Amino acid sequence: MALPAVEQALVVLSGIVDPAAAPQILANRLTDRLREVGGEALVRDPMGWLLGRGLLQRPACPDRRCDDGIRLDTGDDCPSCGNVVHIRRSLRARVAAAVEADLPYVLPAERRSEIGRRLRKEYVLEEQRAQLRRTRTECEVAQRRQAVAQRRALEEDVQEARRQAPCADCGLPGSAGLCPGCSYRRRTEELVGEAVDLAVAVRADLSDASAVAELTRQCERDTRALLRAACEQACGPDADPRWIAFTTPQIAQQILDDRRAAALRRLLGSQDVVAEVDAAYAACRRRRGSEEDADVVAEAAGRRTAEYLLRQYVGELHAARQREAAGRPAVCAGRAPVVA
Ligand SMILES: [Zn+2]
Ligand SMILES: [Zn+2]
Repeated sequence: MALPAVEQALVVLSGIVDPAAAPQILANRLTDRLREVGGEALVRDPMGWLLGRGLLQRPACPDRRCDDGIRLDTGDDCPSCGNVVHIRRSLRARVAAAVEADLPYVLPAERRSEIGRRLRKEYVLEEQRAQLRRTRTECEVAQRRQAVAQRRALEEDVQEARRQAPCADCGLPGSAGLCPGCSYRRRTEELVGEAVDLAVAVRADLSDASAVAELTRQCERDTRALLRAACEQACGPDADPRWIAFTTPQIAQQILDDRRAAALRRLLGSQDVVAEVDAAYAACRRRRGSEEDADVVAEAAGRRTAEYLLRQYVGELHAARQREAAGRPAVCAGRAPVVA
């Protein structure tokens, strides 16, 4: 008979405190309640006592964690109870003052019963207000949960739509916007474009738009032929097209790296860089650096200058192409091609 009640009490407690701590808290509650009645020997109807008093939580305030003014989750005094005591005390004082003012000449017993009557009325009102607050809080929590659920559902829809989006290039469904094949192809195009630019930037007279265009076409043709040949060699004959698609951007990256190295070597022999190398060497020797130190310093200066010039030439190439596309002639004097 008592077992379901004990289980029920544990379930309720587990909703308030850590479920692992619930049995101990229930045991403490029973001990306290027994002490209240003066020990188990004085309990005449143990079953009735357990169900009616021993097991029951007795919240002394509206806080659901409150049991006899002790907080179930922390074991400390219930702060909300402190408030309630204060509020009740001031309410009692207010009601007593009102009764004193309204009925100044009644007998003390009559005044006490009037105070009791008005207080009970206030308590009922207070309980109604508390009930209203609880209902409102429950409503708000439910609304918040619903909003969170809706937002999650929306996010999942968006993600699913993103996953299902067809490839922008070939229209393959379920490609998350770009299929692997087209992604490799785009990457390859970028790398080929950069490799072509590096070669053109150090060779062309950038003030001559038609020469730039012609050299770009020729260089692009050569680069694509080189890429095709290198891919065939790397993948072997009759390779799976997907394997070729995967390998192509990697080989394009190698070609780009080679082009950069070649462009830097070419620039290292240019007048500008040689002058910079000589100046760095001389400056180091003037500071009483050894010949070996001066060599190291000069080499670093040459590398830095060549890299700087390469960035600058590529930038000028892009600017020249933009001018050509916009139909404007070159605004600055052309730079002679770098001749190594
Ligand atoms: Zn409390
Ligand atoms: Zn595609």
